[in-house]
Amino acid sequence: MGLEAQRAAGVEGQAPWATIIGCADSRKPPELIFGGLGLGELFVARNAGNLVDTATLGTVEYGSVVLGVPLIVVLGHTSCGAVAAACDVVTKNATYPGAIGPMIEPILPAAIATQGEAGNYTNNAAMESARRTAARLTASSTLLADLVAAGKLKIVPAIYTLDTGEVSYL
Ligand SMILES: [Zn+2]
Repeated sequence: MGLEAQRAAGVEGQAPWATIIGCADSRKPPELIFGGLGLGELFVARNAGNLVDTATLGTVEYGSVVLGVPLIVVLGHTSCGAVAAACDVVTKNATYPGAIGPMIEPILPAAIATQGEAGNYTNNAAMESARRTAARLTASSTLLADLVAAGKLKIVPAIYTLDTGEVSYL
């Protein structure tokens, strides 16, 4: 279906089949990395580091409670700048201007937990942060927790590997 036909089909409403909490990184637009999805397929919330603040939590709740989206993917990625910044806070006491420092604070527990693990520190921290963010969704939202308990919603953390284009579920 071309874009024009997709637009026409979506005028009456939307019924996306997945919510993606993704990083703002320009190299991972969800519709493209999942193989070229069309209008109306994905409900997307993006911010640097694929984190869940109040705005994102409300967005995700709206997706599942109002639109009935049955799947939420917390999609981290390799070589994430926000995660690398959090790792630098842990290892080098790095500081950042403006709202960047407070923004990456929620990544710090994952960066601390994965420090010293074998493999790539930034990517290990990105995977751990995606896992923790997925867990936080049900811990901080009874709406989402109830949907999960009722079998109407699945929440999965995942990581997108930039150089292979592969999405691995964690
Ligand atoms: Zn990123």
